[in-house]
Amino acid sequence: MEIKKMMKAIVKTKRESGAEYKDVPVPEPNPDEVLIKVHAAAICGTDIHIYQWNKWAQENFERSFSPVPRIMGHEFSGEVVKKGVLAESIEIGQRVACETHIPCGHCYQCRTGDTYNCQNIRRFRDGIYGEYAVVPAKNLVLLPDTMTYDQAAVMEPFSVATHGASMVSMVGDTVMVMGCGPIGLFIIKIARAMGASYIYASDISDYRRKLALDSGANQVFNPIECDVVECVKKLTASLGCGTVFDTSGNVDAIKQGFKILRKCGNMVMIGLPSKTLSFEDAGNDIVWKAAKIYGIHGREILKSWEISKGLIGSGAVNIDHLLTHRFPFSQYETAFELAEKGMTGKVILYPDNIEKD
Ligand SMILES: [Zn+2]
Ligand SMILES: [Zn+2]
Repeated sequence: MEIKKMMKAIVKTKRESGAEYKDVPVPEPNPDEVLIKVHAAAICGTDIHIYQWNKWAQENFERSFSPVPRIMGHEFSGEVVKKGVLAESIEIGQRVACETHIPCGHCYQCRTGDTYNCQNIRRFRDGIYGEYAVVPAKNLVLLPDTMTYDQAAVMEPFSVATHGASMVSMVGDTVMVMGCGPIGLFIIKIARAMGASYIYASDISDYRRKLALDSGANQVFNPIECDVVECVKKLTASLGCGTVFDTSGNVDAIKQGFKILRKCGNMVMIGLPSKTLSFEDAGNDIVWKAAKIYGIHGREILKSWEISKGLIGSGAVNIDHLLTHRFPFSQYETAFELAEKGMTGKVILYPDNIEKD
């Protein structure tokens, strides 16, 4: 396959809102890297922060990424077209997705078998919203033939949901999901596959509550219109839910989640709290409740990916209806506008000249 010298990419060129669609050189892989022809990419919450250049981006961008100018994006799938000399186990032509966290390999967590909680996580040296991308070979995940590039492009956030869901048993139990963004929706689908009995969810967006019902939630609530805690208590004979996932990061939702949690239940916290989280009654809501609290950061490398591959690749979980929008890279402005409004499930972006699989 002939590889071009220049490519089109969505580049964050300045420390201000927006991005540019422009020509940049096709990157060369280092010895331990591979060059991927990108087939599909997805928009993540962090990409929206960076696109808007909001407070979070201003404060955190350089901590996680190389400085601007930098190609945007991290969730993607594609085909290996070139490899460095050390990428021995990888073959040209393989269909792949890619873990986005790069553990350091030498901190306490890395040395004690907990690499995914590495203290010095790094990211790709450049983004992936381009026709090609270079990534470390050891981060690649080979795709089964049954999985489409679009499905594979969202395996990274899906695997956050897989990781959170794997912390608990949901067989025959009631589950509450606070927040129906993509990760909340993925959790509803996984909870169904894991044998949850009743699944409830809450979100302020009509669009997302509808997606939650389509994903298998029994009942959804709009916290603006009803008292979610009272509603769930009524439905569970005052017991509450055995597992509550917070994917919203909204502090009011998190506090409601703790009230909905059954005694000795599991609270799985995935959303990053938007403000200071304080409890008026931590005794009842946490301590005497004997709540088990799990903080979830990223994925279990690479175990969560293998579980996701099994769930999506086998068809046990079908996520196609949650990939609600598709745009070529050149229409990135429309794509970001829509994603910002919460009027989407997952948004897929793809190189303008790519053939759909
Ligand atoms: Zn992501
Ligand atoms: Zn480390």
